[in-house]
Amino acid sequence: MAESLDILAGRVAELIIGAERVVVFTGAGISTESGIPDFRSPGGIWERFDPDDFTYQKFVRNPETRRKQWLVLRDSGLVTEAMPNPAHCAIAELYKMGRLDCVITQNIDNLHQKAGVPADKILELHGTMQRAVCLDCGQRYPFARIKTRLDGGEELLDCEACHGILKPDAVLFGESLPEAVLKEASLRATNCDLFIVVGSSLVIYPAAYMPQYAIESGAKLVIINLSPTHLDKKAVVLIRAKAGEAMSQVIAELSQRLNR
Ligand code: NAD
Ligand code: ZN
Repeated sequence: MAESLDILAGRVAELIIGAERVVVFTGAGISTESGIPDFRSPGGIWERFDPDDFTYQKFVRNPETRRKQWLVLRDSGLVTEAMPNPAHCAIAELYKMGRLDCVITQNIDNLHQKAGVPADKILELHGTMQRAVCLDCGQRYPFARIKTRLDGGEELLDCEACHGILKPDAVLFGESLPEAVLKEASLRATNCDLFIVVGSSLVIYPAAYMPQYAIESGAKLVIINLSPTHLDKKAVVLIRAKAGEAMSQVIAELSQRLNR
């Protein structure tokens, strides 16, 4: 018989209490309850867009691709309107309780920051949509500035300093991950003793190496995800529930135990 959420969440709370370094690893699934679709669930992004249209190579070579991407971004509300949900808030709570080493995220939506986790505790493996970067001189611009230009009718954005191509500061398909962030994340994963996956299918590499590094170094693994992953059998606690509900329950169980 499947165990109830409060029992499973209680077990996660015990693991957190017994751990020295807790790393939380998040994917698109933590943000679906904020209204941002993930890639692989029914109704996810891949049912509506062709991934081939979003490669780095196309972005650089084809002005039409760039124009489309900037317009999609301007109209999506992804950067400006999406708000953190109870799962993001629970992780921020974990930070406030002094129980969080860091968040390693595949997301580009800035919702961990909005929920109150300090930026220096968040490792964004795939960059962020909060900024644009010049492919020639590396200058970065906040999205607010970009949005003003898009709203003003510009469609192909160039760098204000050198007129190079501007790209969202998020990793596109076919583009490598930011090296320093990847290195730091690998180190944190290797050195933690509890690794909690929230809302990731664990199929995108090198991001999906992180839980592997953690287990190989002896950390305990918790997985909170709606659909199965290839690491489910390695998890000491597996919660097949919505991230918001599950993480809120974990915090409730944790507070209860700490305030006893
Ligand atoms: P994914 O789309 O491959 O998988 C998401 C997983 O989350 C699925 O297994 C799904 O079952 C689960 N899920 C969906 N809603 C959930 C919920 N409410 N509670 C618990 N689990 C839920 O996402 P991924 O593994 O993160 O990899 C896809 C790539 O897409 C990543 O590289 C990420 O950068 C990118 N992406 C990011 C965003 C974002 O920033 N919000 C959105 C879409 C895709
Ligand atoms: Zn430039």
